[in-house]
Amino acid sequence: MAIELKNILYSYEKSADHNGNTVLDGINLTLAREDFTAVIGPTGSGKSTLVQHLNLLLHAVSGDILYDGESIYAEDYDRKGLRSKVGLVFQYPEYQLFETDILSDVCFGPRNLGLSEKEVRERAEKALDAVGFSADDYARSPYDLSGGQKRRVAIAGILAMQPEFLVLDEPAAGLDPQGRRDILRLIRELHTENGTGIVLVSHSMDDVAEYADRIVALYGGKIEIDGTPREVFAQRSRLEEMGLSVPQAAQVADELRSAGLDIPQGLITVDEVADAVLRCLRKD
Ligand code: ADP
Ligand code: MG
Repeated sequence: MAIELKNILYSYEKSADHNGNTVLDGINLTLAREDFTAVIGPTGSGKSTLVQHLNLLLHAVSGDILYDGESIYAEDYDRKGLRSKVGLVFQYPEYQLFETDILSDVCFGPRNLGLSEKEVRERAEKALDAVGFSADDYARSPYDLSGGQKRRVAIAGILAMQPEFLVLDEPAAGLDPQGRRDILRLIRELHTENGTGIVLVSHSMDDVAEYADRIVALYGGKIEIDGTPREVFAQRSRLEEMGLSVPQAAQVADELRSAGLDIPQGLITVDEVADAVLRCLRKD
């Protein structure tokens, strides 16, 4: 089960403040449901534009997208079905909370799928449970929640559609460290326990090093690098040329190595670097 993008070209309409330049410039990419894929790239590289193609919010100027082997651009394709199979959580999704209480908000998506009221309710409750809310919270107003809580309710609204792929555009942006961790752990759990395919847009190299098993780096609307976190973060100078960096843990590892410590190459997470430092200390 996969989403296959074939030579996708996209440009926004010419407008007063935009000259209609190519924003996606020949994207070839297969996103497997088994993967937790991170999409990175500097601001303006086309990350948000790319992910909006995955559930037909944007339509390529040319190229094709296959979902489970079928072209989503085919005339008789079930577009509504696709929108529930590929759940897209926008950047700052909390701005799209609009119902007076949490439960109603999360019911909105599944109700739109034309399910029975019983099924709608069951799905909403399950989704809210997954993001850490209990029945006591159902009547709360979305407006009275913290930033991280709002974000989780917005994600529950998408989860209630029970998507096969969950696509999230900077879901942790602007949250405090605890809020970030809660969201990222939730996403990882959805991946490992429900088998949901994950496509995560992120500008945090620390987060993608920790959670993703594949990283796709966009630059100027093209895929510049594609590989495992270890492969991608081994290319420090190439990333820096793109205006990106390696995770902080990898930077620390490099500095310790320069200072003469016996730290192996290729460490990218805090835990890995901590282990390596401990091993050095024990040797002395
Ligand atoms: P990223 O998410 O990587 O920051 P975007 O996909 O938002 O990148 O933007 C890619 C390019 O498309 C940028 O040059 C941006 O200015 C332009 N762009 C994004 N959204 C619009 C829009 N609605 N209208 C016109 N241009 C846009
Ligand atoms: Mg963006």
